[in-house]
Amino acid sequence: LVSRKKKPENTIVDVKGEKIGDGNQYFVMGPCAVESYEQVAEVAQAIKRHGLKLLRGGAYKPRTSPYDFQGLGVEGLKILKRVADEFDLAVISEIVTPADIETALDYIDVIQIGARNMQNFELLKAAGQVNKPVLLKRGLAATIEEFIHAAEYIMSQGNGQIILCERGIRTYEKATRNTLDISAVPILKKETHLPVFVDVTHSTGRRDLLLPCAKAALAIGADGVMAEVHPDPAVALSDSAQQMDIDQFNEFMEELKSFQKQF
Ligand code: PEP
Ligand code: MN
Repeated sequence: LVSRKKKPENTIVDVKGEKIGDGNQYFVMGPCAVESYEQVAEVAQAIKRHGLKLLRGGAYKPRTSPYDFQGLGVEGLKILKRVADEFDLAVISEIVTPADIETALDYIDVIQIGARNMQNFELLKAAGQVNKPVLLKRGLAATIEEFIHAAEYIMSQGNGQIILCERGIRTYEKATRNTLDISAVPILKKETHLPVFVDVTHSTGRRDLLLPCAKAALAIGADGVMAEVHPDPAVALSDSAQQMDIDQFNEFMEELKSFQKQF
């Protein structure tokens, strides 16, 4: 169902009026994890200044260690909803268990399925049974074929509103947290009719690589770029090393806007 051979024209995923996949390039920005209302609101304000609409933030955090901050859960979803309503933004947030999907429908605009859950087939099926866009991330060690099959799980249940997101894969390279597989973008766009985003934060794990990798994503034809922004990354409860502060985010957006004008 996700194959371009079955459906030659691009799928457009409508997120509160943003027509993702329509040829424009979108930005999904926000903190790694929701920590407080004030923290999310500060980022939302910055996003608004750039005319952006898509706010991210994790309420359920799939952390490598069980002793790390696990997220605020449903309280985090409530904060996201409050900020989204106040600033007229659309919210993307990760859900990690099928049991939470129903609840999430009341609070968020896009269900994110994270890299660690790309092959959580029960979660994929549950996300496929609701009328809500899904942002599906590539697994840490998933081939492109496996990634496409994961999207097929969602679509086979009836939900065709899927955005794919390349977020780096595990290789022997240690200079970055993961290796951004930039060529996955044109491959996914050729093989499927779905929009494709690139997450420059989790792929690189390095703040200094966010801008060049975002430029690469835009140049290669990604439908959107995701990156993390936090009012004070030094005290962030997760991904402290790679989130941008507000000044860095402003500069990042200015650079990307002038870069976009070049082509
Ligand atoms: C995230 O986007 O918050 C996240 C945890 O990313 P990933 O699943 O790609 O690691
Ligand atoms: Mn993060």
